[in-house]
Amino acid sequence: MRIARVASRAQLGLAAPPVQVEVHLGGGLPTFSIVGLPTTAVRESKDRVRAALAIGKFEWPAGRITVNLSPADLPKDGCRYDLPIALGILVASEQLKVADERLAGCEFYGELGLAGELKPVRGVLLAAAHAARAGRNVVVPVGNLAEARLVSPAGSRCAATLLEVCEQLRARNGAARVDAIVEPAGAPASPSTTALDLVDVRGQSAPKRALLVAAAGAHSILLVGPPGTGKSMLAQRLPGLLPPLEADEALDVATIASVSLRGFEPRNFGQRPFRAPHHSASASAVIGGGPHARPGEVSLAHRGVLFLDELPEFNRAVLESLREPLETGMVAIARAALQVEYPARFQLVAAMNPCPCGYLGDVSGRCRCAPPVIARYRARISGPLLDRIDLRVEVASLPSEELLGDGTQAAAGMTSAAAARRVHDARHRQYRRAGKLNADLSGKEIQEYCRLERRSRMLLAQARERLNLSARAMHRALRVARTIVDLEMLDLENETGPDRTIGPAHLAEALQLRRAID
Ligand SMILES: [Zn+2]
Repeated sequence: MRIARVASRAQLGLAAPPVQVEVHLGGGLPTFSIVGLPTTAVRESKDRVRAALAIGKFEWPAGRITVNLSPADLPKDGCRYDLPIALGILVASEQLKVADERLAGCEFYGELGLAGELKPVRGVLLAAAHAARAGRNVVVPVGNLAEARLVSPAGSRCAATLLEVCEQLRARNGAARVDAIVEPAGAPASPSTTALDLVDVRGQSAPKRALLVAAAGAHSILLVGPPGTGKSMLAQRLPGLLPPLEADEALDVATIASVSLRGFEPRNFGQRPFRAPHHSASASAVIGGGPHARPGEVSLAHRGVLFLDELPEFNRAVLESLREPLETGMVAIARAALQVEYPARFQLVAAMNPCPCGYLGDVSGRCRCAPPVIARYRARISGPLLDRIDLRVEVASLPSEELLGDGTQAAAGMTSAAAARRVHDARHRQYRRAGKLNADLSGKEIQEYCRLERRSRMLLAQARERLNLSARAMHRALRVARTIVDLEMLDLENETGPDRTIGPAHLAEALQLRRAID
């Protein structure tokens, strides 16, 4: 019996455990079986492998062919094993002669087309990152090279066909088709959310100011207002106010995208995600799941913005399932016998109409919604979810000239670049102080870092009584007030001076910024 072993990897959430593809050739009646818990997709690869070998003018070995994907207890999905299976058959039947250590130094990924061409597969970025850590090269389809090279620039090879892989393996000096590949056009050509400028949204100085505060402290925000007032426009501009992704954050974002249904676009590398699922989206689309336990919108929005327009229209189960990621920054997806976890640390921006018709409180006076109808509409968003939203802001249909004084007026004409600079500085201050952003401060940290002036303490006590604030609501107000002070510190001379305590004006603004729909 002749045996060949070819290395590859499975994908399990964001883990990429090694898989050994073993091909045994034996005597007896001709059979071809794949063992090791293959799904339908793996079984289908039999036909593709057979066709690709025929196209490549290779011989189909006589006798029993057994392919074992080990370890057997790993679930294996997808078509990524086509290439290692085909190579295993060629090596075992000695149609491809390649030194053992040469073969062992590489991992192989790729689906075979019926004409022997290699088609891109999902999750290559993740696999290549793990291979690089294990000191192995990867051989991937041409369409996957750009993502593989992000994590393994020196160790990524690509090929267009099965034949080309064989040629590369046979070549004495290991000449590989890596330099011949035309780089995907350098600059990101896609219209990105960073291209949208705050200054293009007319009026709305109060919501813009709220967006600045949200960006600076990573606070989640709910925008409440009639249709057509620019809630979506405002939400889309939040990524442009946030600092660029750190290198490891960018890799996390790319890795999640690479295992998602839509796959990863190399030209989007380094961009803050902005995800806006429709309110009809299913729980598995938003949270993740399906037969392959793919990441959902909450994970695709990791390190970026999740925008939920028409919040009350979302399925109740979807809204409830947001609580876990909002609390922990992770989601767990149970699938058959195993559980997969994905990171989901996103900034939530939600929008809703004030009532079912959308025009409650509008100057037109056209709203005829009865109070019980309005109450039912708002009750679709549960208290616990609402509790996790720090800022609740009204977006009126007319640019109202304003209640809040200087800070708000200045916000009306603010460019995204100017806002982003302030956000950057305010975040820097927060990291220096607490090692985290204000939205993530725990109850204990709030006591330590959100010190109040004496007059502010009195104001808070009054507000608590008058507005019937819960302990959670008070914490939210204090976190937001801290961010407001951090933004203000930037305008002061002594920027590196000690932290200021929260004054009555800061606290008043923070309380105001959570008033909508109370
Ligand atoms: Zn109405």
